[in-house]
Amino acid sequence: MALSSILDRFNEPETLKMAKMCRQLRSEGVDVIDLSLGEPDFDTPAHIKEAAIQAINDNYSHYTPVAGFMDLKEAVCNKLKRDNNLDYKPENIVVSTGAKQSIANLVLAIVDKGDEVIIPTPYWVTYSEVVKIAEGTVKLFETTIESGYKITPEQLEAAITEKTKLFMFSSPCNPSGAVYSKEELAALAEVFKKHPQVYIMSDEIYEYINFVGKNQSIAQFDEIKDQVVIVNGLSKGFAMTGWRLGYIAASAEVAKACEKLQGQFTSGTNSIAQRAAIVALNSSLDASVEMVKEFERRKKRVMEFVSQMKGVKCIEPEGAFYIFPDVRYFFGKSDGETTIQNSADLSMYLINKANVSTVMGDAFGAPEGLRISFANSMENIEKGYSRIADALAKLQPQP
Ligand code: PLP
Repeated sequence: MALSSILDRFNEPETLKMAKMCRQLRSEGVDVIDLSLGEPDFDTPAHIKEAAIQAINDNYSHYTPVAGFMDLKEAVCNKLKRDNNLDYKPENIVVSTGAKQSIANLVLAIVDKGDEVIIPTPYWVTYSEVVKIAEGTVKLFETTIESGYKITPEQLEAAITEKTKLFMFSSPCNPSGAVYSKEELAALAEVFKKHPQVYIMSDEIYEYINFVGKNQSIAQFDEIKDQVVIVNGLSKGFAMTGWRLGYIAASAEVAKACEKLQGQFTSGTNSIAQRAAIVALNSSLDASVEMVKEFERRKKRVMEFVSQMKGVKCIEPEGAFYIFPDVRYFFGKSDGETTIQNSADLSMYLINKANVSTVMGDAFGAPEGLRISFANSMENIEKGYSRIADALAKLQPQP
């Protein structure tokens, strides 16, 4: 019996495939260090867990409004004012089952068959695949390590055509760790101002995991604010990946469209997670700040390792918890048994020979790179990066 053709249009996330592979190897008794991880290795802060327990005891066990509880939408608006100095009303907010659903809602609400969607590479795995589900045309736009993995206003201007409907990016960026400054965003905003038909998805889910200062949102530029859809969520900044809580802030028109779609797919997200999210958003960010300090300590250690690895070209991440080195130096090299042709081969070589999982750059539209996480304990970072260093040192030019 045939399945639908939608399934042929997109790929399974490489990140999730890697996580599956790690679990499988572990169940076979292999001591795998998972550096493909895309989530904080911290527990959710106690006051947020308490709020969830309270919500269960208070019998928050019924369906919720599709776009989220009103007091949660208000908490999101307050957060946007407190952290980003942005004015939004509850009618601009839609809460979803993770930022991943927020992104899916948004793309399906905006993109029609044949519409062009510009995505600078490297980008988060899901962007291109959701666009393909919507039958949009993915226009990847290469940025390189030399430009700090950031798109320039000139490149953006050249990429926009009459058919462009949406621009998708994250800052801090998963996987590159690049963070756009206010000045860089202002320059991009000048370009978008000339193209009011283009929506901008600003994925700010790593907002708090920023090592260079306060995160800047492109929504701060009034003339393009209605074109911008902010995507954010609690997964990364509050160590709440499994709770599945994301949201958008958008024009009321876009928010309504997303709510309509969500009403047929999932309805309102989990009631307990929503009650806990209100407390997370309204409370002090001390626990998040502590977590980020620890990520910074690990990043420093990781950069020490990387600086000793011959052939690994890497910029220091300004945010998120990954490094994304250019690993082309190893292409064509061999340990005498395995020859590395590309990033996928290197990722497989590292898992098979060093028992360390990473994610190949192709998954992020940048085949020259390899994503290696530092969202793991210092002990595992020491072990994992040492193993990577040893395995890479064995790769030599073929005779
Ligand atoms: N955006 C980026 C850049 C991400 O890295 C992730 C998760 O890895 C998400 C969105 C989705 O987050 P969630 O669905 O857990 O809220």
